[in-house]
Amino acid sequence: MATVEFRVGARAHIVVDSDVCRSCTTKACVSACPANLFAPTSDGGILFNYEQCFECGTCYMVCNSEGAIEWTYPDGGQGVVFRHG
Ligand code: SF4
Ligand code: SF4
Repeated sequence: MATVEFRVGARAHIVVDSDVCRSCTTKACVSACPANLFAPTSDGGILFNYEQCFECGTCYMVCNSEGAIEWTYPDGGQGVVFRHG
C-alpha cells in the first residue's frame, strides 16, 4: 500500500451548543478530547472544531449537560482524509 487513508470524520458530525456550554461548570470536554478540539471562549462558551475529530466519543460521554453535544450521521463523504506514506 503506497497510501494509507483515515477517513476520520467522514460519517459522524458533532455539533456543540455553546449556549448550553456557557452554563457548564466543568468544561470536561476541554481536557477530555484527545484532539484538543474544544476551546473555551472568553464569554464562557465553547468553540468546537470538528474537522480533526477522531470520533472517539469521549466528549459525548464526559459532557455533563444533556443536549450540549449532538451527534448526527450524514450520508456522503464529507470529512477530512489524512494521507501519509
Ligand atoms: S462538557 Fe458539554 S456542556 Fe460542558 S463545555 Fe463541554 S460540551 Fe459544553
Ligand atoms: S469524539 Fe473524541 S476526538 Fe471527537 S471531539 Fe469528541 S472527544 Fe474529541
